[in-house]
Amino acid sequence: MEAKRASPPSTTIPTTKLARTTSGSGSGSGTIILNKYQLGRLLGRGSFAKVYHGRCLDDNSTVAVKAIDKTKGFQGPLEQFIIREVSVMRRLNHHPSILKIHEVMATKTKIYLVMELAPGGELFSKLQQRGKFSESTARNYFHQLISALHFCHQNGVAHRDIKPQNMLLDQHGNLKISDFGLSALPEQLKNGMLHTACGTPAYTAPEVVYRKGYDGFKADAWSCGVLLYAFLVGSLPFDDSNLPQMHRAIHRRVFDFPEWVSKPAKSIIYRLLDPNPTTRLGIEELLKHSWFKKASRSFKEQEFGCVFGQRDKDGGYLSRLNAFDIICMSSGLNLSGLFEMGLSRKEMRFTSGSKVGEIEERVLKVGGELGYRVQRGKGGGIGLVKGCGILVVEIWEVAEGLWMVEFKVVEGRVVEFEESQWEELRAGLKDIALSWHDEYDGS
Ligand code: ADP
Ligand code: MG
Repeated sequence: MEAKRASPPSTTIPTTKLARTTSGSGSGSGTIILNKYQLGRLLGRGSFAKVYHGRCLDDNSTVAVKAIDKTKGFQGPLEQFIIREVSVMRRLNHHPSILKIHEVMATKTKIYLVMELAPGGELFSKLQQRGKFSESTARNYFHQLISALHFCHQNGVAHRDIKPQNMLLDQHGNLKISDFGLSALPEQLKNGMLHTACGTPAYTAPEVVYRKGYDGFKADAWSCGVLLYAFLVGSLPFDDSNLPQMHRAIHRRVFDFPEWVSKPAKSIIYRLLDPNPTTRLGIEELLKHSWFKKASRSFKEQEFGCVFGQRDKDGGYLSRLNAFDIICMSSGLNLSGLFEMGLSRKEMRFTSGSKVGEIEERVLKVGGELGYRVQRGKGGGIGLVKGCGILVVEIWEVAEGLWMVEFKVVEGRVVEFEESQWEELRAGLKDIALSWHDEYDGS
């Protein structure tokens, strides 16, 4: 392998740097929230929240409840984090290795994210217990990770905080990726590049550290390299006790492999840990690598094909709304303070009982009449363009025969759509709309 000898490699993952508190009984234990979930033991603490075991009083099912205290002095940025986390998880609710979000509930002082429970805890603890994973175990986890990431990337989402603490396990030991708090949605792509520095030093790609505009997908690929190294070796490729030194090593691509790591695995890691993102192995390429393709039983090639937003045979969109969407769109629970950003004058939604084809036809007709240029996306989505403003129209099936139609301004543009433009659209669509779900509601 081309990797040169580095300063003495660390032999174990430093516990102090990476460990978390995952036990103890929190103040939430026993509490019943919103007459629906009883909180149990504390599962973990994150940067913004405590996560509890929860039991649904209706059907006794178990969940995880992430409780965020709004009064803890967090203001705007926290809300942005939550909005981001929820909206990302909501988009990605369809992959087996991505932790599902069931519901979002809010009280005056707390926000609760009700999620799928990952009873197996953190993959990180397992790695610590075992020291390192065998090649087949490592490949098995790596397959699940890459499958989930590939799915995220196909949907325009980079994770940006891939590390073992965010890899949880279900009761069968399957991977569930959590913590999309740092993920960037496509709307946040400015000139196609991400600009916020984030992540965790030891797992963060050099271009992210140096705050150059960067490609989040390639940055994720880097983190996967660190993770695969950690799986196989039981330590990190770059030791972060001395940051400048660590970054020098990263730039020179200087790290060490113990003799037990196979040649093809080394080659993958080496290519993922390329400091230059343009030549770094990307996730798409990785999928074709022979080491990666060597099938383990749990690996199904077709898993890599599923794209959110694809249409089904009847022309409808496959994605379904979950409880979260419905709560957000209903006026029953007032989350307007929390979701203000997302629901400013940038979106308009309505439900319709018409056939999806008719809805589309009407949208195109009304758009045309109002002077919008119509664009069709690859997946069949509709874009309405006027000047430098673009509205994206998405149609989802809420329940059998009931469609949610959403108009959204493409973000990152300076263009403000004027109230009158929304009103015109609304007027044109009035007779196919059953109810409106946005801030113009109730007018
Ligand atoms: P933060 O985003 O604030 O870092 P996390 O979502 O990472 O919070 O949650 C913190 C910890 O709580 C996790 O590292 C994990 O140990 C535990 N945890 C989070 N979600 C779940 C879950 N769904 N099931 C089991 N444990 C969880
Ligand atoms: Mg976390």
